[in-house]
Amino acid sequence: MNKLCKLCGISEKQLVNAHIIPRGLHKQLCMVGEESGIRLGSPGKYHKKSPIGVWDDTILCAGCDNSFSLWEKYSCEFLLSPINENTLINDLIGHKLAYRVDRFEYDKLQLFFLSLLWKASITKKEEFNTVNLGPYETVMKDIILSGDINKASQFSILFRRLLKGPNMHLFPAFFRKEGVNFFHLYLGEFEVWIKVDKQKLPKTLEGFVLKPQKPLWILLRNFSGSNIENTVKSINLKH
Ligand SMILES: [Zn+2]
Repeated sequence: MNKLCKLCGISEKQLVNAHIIPRGLHKQLCMVGEESGIRLGSPGKYHKKSPIGVWDDTILCAGCDNSFSLWEKYSCEFLLSPINENTLINDLIGHKLAYRVDRFEYDKLQLFFLSLLWKASITKKEEFNTVNLGPYETVMKDIILSGDINKASQFSILFRRLLKGPNMHLFPAFFRKEGVNFFHLYLGEFEVWIKVDKQKLPKTLEGFVLKPQKPLWILLRNFSGSNIENTVKSINLKH
């Protein structure tokens, strides 16, 4: 008997190998560097290299898996395109602060990151056991099915980019910022924050949220000396 597709809820369909992180993105973001990453999971555990990423054959039918493809195609191209250095903003003493992107497709990016987080929540794969959306799992499922961008925008998204970081995907992680709940996604050099909370965004972050008709800000921070550097070291020590 076929298992139930977690998106359309139909049980008569054959389920497919659904990648949590799109395969092309997983591979491309991790191609460079001696540690050439491609590890996923939580610190303190053994993490095998995974050249094709993590897939789950118990969550989606072919139709539902394909329904993500427009968002995925656009977002992968967006994340993999070289950043225009002319869009770099420095502070008054010349430190790199952020990139400002003026042209992008808000709907596709917003729905892509929500769908990725939702898949990470519904899969039972160990690498993603740090993600449990609780009641928001159903909310996100309904948004994915309807494509309702107004509802999708309640989950605020922010981008950061690690300077001189490793080329690896890390486990998604839950964290709180000023009492508000977020999940991190680490995709190569990109760090994506997704607010999963009814509370409003902390005021300090409001100006940097992904929004339609506004510039997209990619805030920069040094990998060296960051919390994430310690996490990466703890993972590598296990090999
Ligand atoms: Zn389905």
